[in-house]
Formats: sequence, structure tokens, C-alpha cells
Amino acid sequence: MNDKPTHFGFETVAEGDKARRVAGVFSSVAANYDVMNDLMSLGLHRLWKHFTIQVAGVRQGDRVLDVAGGTGDLSLAFAKKVGHQGTVWLTDINQAMLARGRDRMIDHGHALPVARCDAERLPFPAAHFDCVTVAFGLRNMTHKQEALKEMTRVLKPGGRLLVLEFSRVWAPLAPAYDFYSFKVLPWLGGKVARDADSYRYLAESIRMHPPQNELKTMMEDAGLVRVDYFNLTGGVVALHRGYRV
Ligand code: SAM
Repeated sequence: MNDKPTHFGFETVAEGDKARRVAGVFSSVAANYDVMNDLMSLGLHRLWKHFTIQVAGVRQGDRVLDVAGGTGDLSLAFAKKVGHQGTVWLTDINQAMLARGRDRMIDHGHALPVARCDAERLPFPAAHFDCVTVAFGLRNMTHKQEALKEMTRVLKPGGRLLVLEFSRVWAPLAPAYDFYSFKVLPWLGGKVARDADSYRYLAESIRMHPPQNELKTMMEDAGLVRVDYFNLTGGVVALHRGYRV
């Protein structure tokens, strides 16, 4: 096992242990994931995802890859855009999340291809996709730079990567946001999902994630160009976009 240190929320753990701990969190939250998303974000995650879909500019016939797609909110929206000529792959490392995503797609009449895979080792050929997205997934990955490189590798030249992730909030909002994330979220997780620890991890992992400009540089280092970002809800979330040359 790789024992280089890394972060799991505010804890320092061995790299080899992080993926196992993250898997534990998502296996535990999968059953309540969609309800908790609505509750915790007061429905705002729907607006953030809607904005992502607008910025993605996916068209009929496009090939789209949803990395760490979980229960499939983005995949479902993209499936409606690409039509019968296009393809949307729903992928995630976690079987419990992916199973819920696949069932939701079928319930909505979309039999999308689904693959369980690690974003750090994508089982797709180079230069294959018009658009790759990762929503609220990157901060859970052990080697973020590797994952960004992989997502860039599978993009066609001119294709774009969109990273939707929690980010650094506008300073005047920080005290209220800290109270909400460190007190209210774990309480809500305990009451509704009987799992305060996973929601404490959520709040901590957000604080450990690279802020807007640092993530922009990481995307450039992965080989993307014209990288820009949009702050949403005062920087609670940022949408980064970059293109493969
Ligand atoms: N994208 C969905 C959404 O926005 O609702 C799900 C986001 S959920 C907060 C984070 C997802 O990242 C989980 O389903 C988890 O299994 C997945 N994940 C974590 N590490 C991963 C990795 N290395 N490769 C692929 N998926 C990963």
C-alpha cells in the first residue's frame, strides 16, 4: 500500500488509504444522496448544474463523458442534448452511486453506457470526447493532477473539460458559511441520513480543495488552454472550463 501522506478532510492519511475512506463515504451516502443534495444546498445544486449544462454547449451527436457522475444529474441532462446520434458515458468509481445513477437513467428512459472506473485511469482512448465533465468529484480524488491529465487525454482537440466544484467563498460570507458547513451540515446528515461523519468530511474536504486560481493553474498544467472560471453563489462553487489543443 502507498503510504505517502495525503488529506482526507482535515485528517492526514496514507495515500493508499484515502480511496478506501472516500469509497466508504459514498457507499454510505448513496441511498440518501439526492435528497440530501437538495436539502443541504437548498436546491442550489440544481442551478449550478443547469449553468454547467448551458456553458458545456453540448450538441446533437456529441460524445460526452461524465466523470464521478454518481447518481447522474449531468448525464441525464446531456442525454437529452446529444440525441440518438450522440453518446453520454456515466462513470464513477463507486458501485453504490453508479447503481443508483444507472437506475435513474433507465427510469427516465435513457439506457446510457455506464462504467465503473477511476478518474485517474480512464478506460477510454485518447481524443475521443467532445466534452468531459466532473461535478463535485475532483476534491475526492487522491491524485487530482493525474485525474485532470487523464480527462484532458480523452478529449478531442478543441474539446472542453468542465470542473464544477466547491471553491473559496467570498470573504464576507465566510463566517456564516463556516457555521453552516461545520455545524448545520453534520447535524442535518446525522438527523436525515444518520451519518454525521460523512457530512463532516464533506465540509472539511471543501476547505482542503484548491481555490479558484490554483485549480486554474492545475488545469493549465494538465495541458488545457483558455482556462477560465465562473464563481457561483459568491464562490461557494466555481465552474472551471478549459480546452484541449
Ligand atoms: N457528479 C455527481 C453530482 O454532481 O451529483 C456526484 C458527485 S459526488 C459528491 C462525488 C462522486 O465522486 C462520488 O460518486 C464518488 O464515488 C466519486 N469519486 C470519488 N473519487 C473518484 C475517482 N477517483 N474516480 C471516479 N469517481 C470518483
